[in-house]
Amino acid sequence: MSFDAWLHRHGAQVEARCLAVVQELPAYTVLPTEESLSSCRGLAEALLADQPGALMERAQQWAEREMRERGATPAELLAIANGLCQAVRDLAPAQEDLGQLNGRFDALGTALARCFADEVERLSAVQSHWEALCEITRELNASLDVGRTLHRTLAALIEAIGAGMGVVLLADGESGQLVPEAVINWQGGNLSPAVLPSAWREGEADSPLLLNDLPASDAEPWVETLASPDVRSVMVAPLVSKGALRGLLAAASARVGAFDPHHVRLFRGVVSQVAMAIGNAEVYRLISEQAQELGQMVRQQQDEATERQAILTSIADGVVVHDPEGRTILVNPAAERILDTPAAQLVGQDFRALFSVFDSRGREEATAAMGALLGVHRPEVRQAFRMNLEIDSRVVRAHLSPVLTEQGDFLGVVTVVRDVTKAVEENRARSEFVSNVSHELRTPMTAIKGYTDLLHAGSVGSINDGQARFLGIIKNNADRLTALINDLLDITRVDTGRVRFEPRPMQIGDVIADVVNVLANQAVAKDQTLTYEVVGGLPDILGDRDRLNQVLTNLVGNGMRYTPKGGEIEVRAYPVDGAVRVDVRDTGIGIAPDDLGRIFERFYRADHPLVWESGGSGLGLAIVKMFVEMHGGRVWVASEQGKGSTFTFVLPMTAPADARPRRVPARLIARVRTIMVLDDEQDVANFVRMQLEDGGYRVSVLRSGRSFVARAEERRPDLIILDLTLPDADGLDVLRDLKRSSVTAEIPVIVLTRVTDDGAAWKWGIMEYLSKPVAGEDLLRSVEEALTWQGRALIVDDDADTVGLLSAAIRQIGFTPLVATDGYEALAMTRRHRPDLILLDLRMPGMDGYEALSHLKRDAVTQAIPIVVISAHVADTEQERKRLIAMGAASFLPKPFSIGDLLDQIESALRPVSAHASP
Ligand code: ADP
Repeated sequence: MSFDAWLHRHGAQVEARCLAVVQELPAYTVLPTEESLSSCRGLAEALLADQPGALMERAQQWAEREMRERGATPAELLAIANGLCQAVRDLAPAQEDLGQLNGRFDALGTALARCFADEVERLSAVQSHWEALCEITRELNASLDVGRTLHRTLAALIEAIGAGMGVVLLADGESGQLVPEAVINWQGGNLSPAVLPSAWREGEADSPLLLNDLPASDAEPWVETLASPDVRSVMVAPLVSKGALRGLLAAASARVGAFDPHHVRLFRGVVSQVAMAIGNAEVYRLISEQAQELGQMVRQQQDEATERQAILTSIADGVVVHDPEGRTILVNPAAERILDTPAAQLVGQDFRALFSVFDSRGREEATAAMGALLGVHRPEVRQAFRMNLEIDSRVVRAHLSPVLTEQGDFLGVVTVVRDVTKAVEENRARSEFVSNVSHELRTPMTAIKGYTDLLHAGSVGSINDGQARFLGIIKNNADRLTALINDLLDITRVDTGRVRFEPRPMQIGDVIADVVNVLANQAVAKDQTLTYEVVGGLPDILGDRDRLNQVLTNLVGNGMRYTPKGGEIEVRAYPVDGAVRVDVRDTGIGIAPDDLGRIFERFYRADHPLVWESGGSGLGLAIVKMFVEMHGGRVWVASEQGKGSTFTFVLPMTAPADARPRRVPARLIARVRTIMVLDDEQDVANFVRMQLEDGGYRVSVLRSGRSFVARAEERRPDLIILDLTLPDADGLDVLRDLKRSSVTAEIPVIVLTRVTDDGAAWKWGIMEYLSKPVAGEDLLRSVEEALTWQGRALIVDDDADTVGLLSAAIRQIGFTPLVATDGYEALAMTRRHRPDLILLDLRMPGMDGYEALSHLKRDAVTQAIPIVVISAHVADTEQERKRLIAMGAASFLPKPFSIGDLLDQIESALRPVSAHASP
């Protein structure tokens, strides 16, 4: 009987025995009997194959199916095969062909062994893929750069789970789409997140979606969009990190049922690793973006700093920067050179180290300014300071200014220094040169003018018309030259502080009328209308008539010169708040905007044909400005080209109408004054004596220089008039001895000589330098001034109008005014000029009056100087007076005050001093 026939007949018995074995095995215990039985039956059928090759093939297929579908292990399959063989052996009749049977069993054994070998090989491949995958995902997480490793991860995954295709889609920040980032054999393109299950979209991590038999009727449409038509199995899962959907990972195969639970587990592991890596990469991207931005900012700041450094290094001015504590933090090369000190010696040091290079006065001045800048905490009173400081024989101009942010935060102080030695020397030399030359030119000019007049008048015979015309031209040009010389002298006199200034209460209208009358003929000749209007009841101003005449002559003269024929020039005077205002308006050529800011400069002339034709000096407006400012006033211009110009000046009016008549301090009230004259020229001496005696003075004349000082010590005159050229002595030596003697040092001296003024006598503190021959009235005026000269008075006030008024008032009583606009300047000027009187305002920017007062009274050098304090801002005058007197003030003057009040206070401030000084 054949094995086939036998088995068909005894199949049920064989299966029953085999089933007993199978049902003991772990993979089969949970299965229904029917399925376990079909397992046995499947193997038994394999044994029925008529060829060993076919048998082996069937057995192998059986084993693979059991492993795949039931998860059976090789040991379990071997147990089933053994169970079946044993059942057959037990039941088969002994007489049957066992050889054939054994042959089948062998073939079965061989097939199973081969199948297991394949399985071992497959498992080890899976294991190595798994390990590779772990390695890659570790790398993925470590590298933070997903792009580089995503593709390798995907490839390893696909190989490990036997899928032929795969894709990683990542969310694109801009389009919001899911875009393929890594692709293996994948056809699909972008995918909108909107089509995904809502849980995925909301970032919930979920199990992978597995479809093993596409096209499945229940598959969502997006799955088909995602995969290409040849896909039969697909596994897809969301990549979720930090609660947000970052992308999708999908693997697919063209085989139906390609993925088993192992694959799903592996896939899930990879999904979570990739999601984590993408999350990390996102953080990495944000951090590196921020780092890049920061880097860019730092680079930009470095660039700016380098640029600033380069600018600082290359500018010609010295720049020194101090921090808010006054420490020096930067010194540029120019500053090293100008201060002759290496930066290393200054940087990190207190600002005093920097200022130690200046002379003691400069040191004091600069330190006071720096103190003000560093010490004051209210930004609105931080101001810049400018000063000339000396280092050995050099002069350095220093500009100290606070560094403030837009918000007003104080960052420190910048000191800019520039060596101006050359400019200062040149200026001094130029002024002296101009002054000397102008003096020298005056005499020949007088001769030219005088002789021309004589010729013209026919003094040396009659002249014809042609000669008269030529003489007229000479005279005109001589007049022009004389005017230029006078202008130059005026300017250098102000520059060198030798200007004569005699303000008295006066009506500006009178000066206007004079000037207009003098110029009227010229206006008629030019067909111009020259008019003036003075508002009635104009208050008095304190003015020097000659100077104001010159101011108006220059302005009206310019108006006429720079207005074409037929134009109009009008002068108007009217009161404004506390001052008198004068407008000089013309309908002339006007002034270009570029020139407007410069016309008050010396020698500046606009580029216009009419200007060049007129042949002026370019000094007229500079003089106007100087004289107006000397009166405490201001001048400015408004102009439109082609239409005309209006020059305006304002002068402060005198004290209010109720001002008491001027009172001269008691010590100035006249008694008979004695004057000693030293001159060896008989005629001159007689002339001087006559003039002075007429003026009410007692005069003694001496001829010998040698005994003069001794005689002066004996007689103690009120004034000395000294010639510098003497037969028996050098006049300058006499002057020096007088000033060195303690008895005569204080006696005022006037020089009257033929020697040209070379400045030497001024050094010994003379009052006036007069050239022979001198007019009687000039002599008397100089004597009167010298006798009434009280010394220098420092006015400390930041208000220009008040300064103007005070200057004019103290000039009246014989003081020369000096001006400081704040406490620091006042301290510096007091030490430098040792004034005889100080008028101190209390309210000023920077160091105020109280602080200045206490400094001045603490300093041994300045404490004896009488100080009159002036203020408008006190509630209780008497209390304030007591307080200020206690602080050392000599007297106190509340605003508003009249000139009379001011003179009273000055007199009372000077009283102890004068009592001590006069016998
Ligand atoms: P000068 O008249 O001798 O040139 P000034 O100092 O008086 O010198 O004037 C300076 C310049 O200002 C003049 O050269 C001219 O260009 C301009 N200027 C002055 N006054 C007038 C004016 N009234 N109209 C137009 N330009 C003027």
